[in-house]
Amino acid sequence: MLASRNDHKRLEFARLMTGYVIDPLVDEVELPPETGATFAANALVKAQAAAEATGAASIADDSGIEADALGGGPGIRSARFAGENATDAENLAKFRREVPAGSAIAYVCALAFVDPVAKTTHVVEGRCHGTMSSDPLGQNGFGYDPIFIFNGQQDRRTMAQLSDSEKDAVSHRAEAVKDLMRWLTS
Ligand code: IMP
Repeated sequence: MLASRNDHKRLEFARLMTGYVIDPLVDEVELPPETGATFAANALVKAQAAAEATGAASIADDSGIEADALGGGPGIRSARFAGENATDAENLAKFRREVPAGSAIAYVCALAFVDPVAKTTHVVEGRCHGTMSSDPLGQNGFGYDPIFIFNGQQDRRTMAQLSDSEKDAVSHRAEAVKDLMRWLTS
């Protein structure tokens, strides 16, 4: 079970975790607030909450964007960068005001796995290094994707201009999933 109510993330995990059935989070589970100091701590409490409430093996991620120009911010505060209930558009607008085009940025994804029956816990982290675009471009993806140019992207398209499979080949979430799946099958 994925401990998230973000449909974009659920679809990405369903695409990435081939061979696994990813159940959506049941309504009864209340996700704890993200009060941890790290992506890993936040991912772990969410996976633990879902596993304890349902008895199902659960995964949760906590992800965000880090900008060199902001000393690594907004980091774990990415979802509420422009305020507690900010929309993706508001967060992106603030990010564009504060982060210069051409500067270094990175996506980070911590992914936690909790199996309440086997009593195992594992946390991994994936990263994707990029550069701030001068203009927001593209309609795919979500969040900060319109300004994120992956450093290995020769044609300089943003993440929001990539197809699902192109994003899946390089994203922070994909890196974390690959790592977790290696551990699950080892
Ligand atoms: P979370 O739901 O607490 O993990 O917050 C994630 C934040 O980082 C949200 O603001 C997302 O928009 C942003 N974010 C995480 N992953 C991505 C991504 O793959 N593309 C764009 N934005 C992302």
